[in-house]
Amino acid sequence: MMNVKAELRETNFFTRYYCHVCGGCTEKVAILTEVPDGEYEGFRVCERCLEAGDIPAKMCKHADELNEFAEELRKLAPALEVPSRDEYQAAERRYEEKWRAAEAVAE
Ligand SMILES: [Zn+2]
Repeated sequence: MMNVKAELRETNFFTRYYCHVCGGCTEKVAILTEVPDGEYEGFRVCERCLEAGDIPAKMCKHADELNEFAEELRKLAPALEVPSRDEYQAAERRYEEKWRAAEAVAE
């Protein structure tokens, strides 16, 4: 496989971005380390992984964790029970009504 080069780029959107190396997130940093184009465009390395080094070992550890998670997902898939979309929307309405009532008391 040819080498893939991650480069430093500025961002003006300060949020936490997913790190593909460790599965964690960046802090709200100004500089991101990302692959700019090609097959792995957007592959990101957080500042903590950069600082700690040994990126290949971290990637392999994360890949093992993803494999374990994939097994858990397959096991859980037929058993997971979730609320309906209607139940979700009703909960949202109750939440909004609760906060509107609290605002009305505050005014
Ligand atoms: Zn990381």
